[in-house]
Amino acid sequence: MKINVLTLFPDMFGAIQESILGRAIENEHLELNIINIRDYTKDKHNRVDDTPFGGGAGMVMQVEPIKLAIDNSNLKGRCIYMSPRGKQLDKEIAMELSEEKEFTILCGHYEGIDQRVIDMYEMEEITIGDYVLTGGELPAMVLIDTVARFIEGVLSSEESALEESIYSGLLEYPQYTKPREIYGKAVPEVLCNGNHKLIKLWKLEKSLELTKENRPDLFESYMKNHGELGKEELKILNKFK
Ligand code: SAM
Repeated sequence: MKINVLTLFPDMFGAIQESILGRAIENEHLELNIINIRDYTKDKHNRVDDTPFGGGAGMVMQVEPIKLAIDNSNLKGRCIYMSPRGKQLDKEIAMELSEEKEFTILCGHYEGIDQRVIDMYEMEEITIGDYVLTGGELPAMVLIDTVARFIEGVLSSEESALEESIYSGLLEYPQYTKPREIYGKAVPEVLCNGNHKLIKLWKLEKSLELTKENRPDLFESYMKNHGELGKEELKILNKFK
């Protein structure tokens, strides 16, 4: 998959070219094409923004450099503008985008983007949450990372993408690794005894406990719609009713 990014701060994207995503780029599961909008300004002082019509605080990114950046970069597919006004990023949006061959992300800065460029390219707007950041670069990286995890071959086993907190319908149970005991703290006995049935039930119980405490909304919908569970699992579930 190819993801094009239009930004004023291309160096920020070094941050997602490490670790699992770095490997995905190396293995050609993912191609990142970072385009510096400032390279396309015709202003002699390299300006890309101006004051808003109608007044108001801050500066607005102008149409021309963005339009030139798009038109001269042979971009294909959907164009997404990261914006607090957008649709909330979730699993469904991420999975849907992971099916695309190519798409483009526009990162705003300052007070945002001149509406005409958003309209001209029929951009979809996506938010990463109900808070406002300085620029669209971090939201774009969040989107890229989330989408990349659904691209085949990016994670070592396909199941792990959907077995995580939220995606599974519950928050994840606590995880432990070696050593079995450290600083007087031991790993719960059940995880060390090799009884896979008991381990599965323990994980479900801990997930339910955490979800009830931290995400009552998720807990409620899991309790209403938990799919098929065995007798033993239902017993655990009933303890939470
Ligand atoms: N004036 C804009 C508004 O009220 O909707 C906010 C502009 S914000 C300071 C600057 C840029 O950061 C936006 O153009 C957008 O690209 C990005 N941004 C900020 N918060 C975001 C969020 N929650 N999700 C996605 N992008 C965001």
